[in-house]
Amino acid sequence: MIEETGAEIADFSEPVEVAGTGTFKRFALARPYLGADRIINLPKLKTHEMMTMTCAVKNLFGAVVGTGKAGWHLKAGADRDLFARMLVELYLLRKPDLNIVDAVAAMEGDGPGSGDPRHVGLLLAGENAVAVDVVAAEIAGIPKKLLYIQRAAASLGVDGADRSEIETTGLPLEEACVPGFRLPHISDVQFGLPQFLKNRLRHYLTSRPCLAEERCRLCGVCKDACPPHAIHIREGRLSFDYHACIRCFCCRELCPEGALDVVEGTLVKIIKKFK
Ligand code: SF4
Ligand code: SF4
Repeated sequence: MIEETGAEIADFSEPVEVAGTGTFKRFALARPYLGADRIINLPKLKTHEMMTMTCAVKNLFGAVVGTGKAGWHLKAGADRDLFARMLVELYLLRKPDLNIVDAVAAMEGDGPGSGDPRHVGLLLAGENAVAVDVVAAEIAGIPKKLLYIQRAAASLGVDGADRSEIETTGLPLEEACVPGFRLPHISDVQFGLPQFLKNRLRHYLTSRPCLAEERCRLCGVCKDACPPHAIHIREGRLSFDYHACIRCFCCRELCPEGALDVVEGTLVKIIKKFK
C-alpha cells in the first residue's frame, strides 16, 4: 500500500524533549510525531494485562522512542494508576486529530501477549481519544473500576472522560455491545490502599509472571526486555527477582514461546476463595 500510495514511513528513532504539564515533567517523543500537521491514530481494541484494555490513548505510547518505553515502565509501571496518568499526560502533549479503532478483529482474554482474537466487526471513530476509549470499553462491557486510563483522565478533568457528555452516532450502542468479552484474568486488590501498604504487600496482592519451563527455549528475549532487569539466566535456568519486578508483564508480552504464565498473589487467591 505504501508503494501504491507513495506514502513515506516516518522514522521514530530521533527523540525530541518536551516539557510535561502535570506529574511528569519531561517526555522524549519522536520528532515526526510532534512535527506532524495531522495525526490519525489507528489503534486496535485489545485487552491488556496491566491496563485491562488498551485502545486510542495507550496507542500513543508508540510516540516514545525505542528504549524510552522501558524507562517509563520503570518509572511509573509499578503502579497502574500512575502509569495510566503518564499515558494521559502524554496524550495531552499532542492530541491526535482523529482516532479510528479497528475493532473488526479485536483481542480478548490475556492480551496483549497471550490474548485471543475476537470478531467484533466494528470500526469506531472520533476526534477525542479518551471519549473513543470510553465508548470502546462500554461496547466491550468492561467495568469502570478496571479502566485505569479513563480513571486517570477523569481525575485530571480531561475532556471525553465523562460518559454523559459523549454523543455517539451510527449503530446504536446496545446493538454494538459484545456479550461475554473476556478480560485478562490478572487481578489484584490494590484499590484504595495507601501507597506504603501497596509497596509492603505487593508480593501478596499482585499477580506475577512465572515460567513454564517446558516451553522456555532460554532465548533471553524476556530478560533483555525487562525494564528493572529482574530476570536472570544462570546455569541454564531462568529466574525472577520478584522484589525488583514491577509487574509490567512486558516479558509475557514479548516471549515468543508463550512460556510465561501468571500466578496470582496469595492474598488475591484467598479473597477470591471467600468471595
Ligand atoms: S522469552 Fe520466553 S522462551 Fe525466551 S527466555 Fe524468556 S521465557 Fe524463555
Ligand atoms: S519480570 Fe516481567 S513483569 Fe517483572 S518487571 Fe520484568 S518484564 Fe516486567
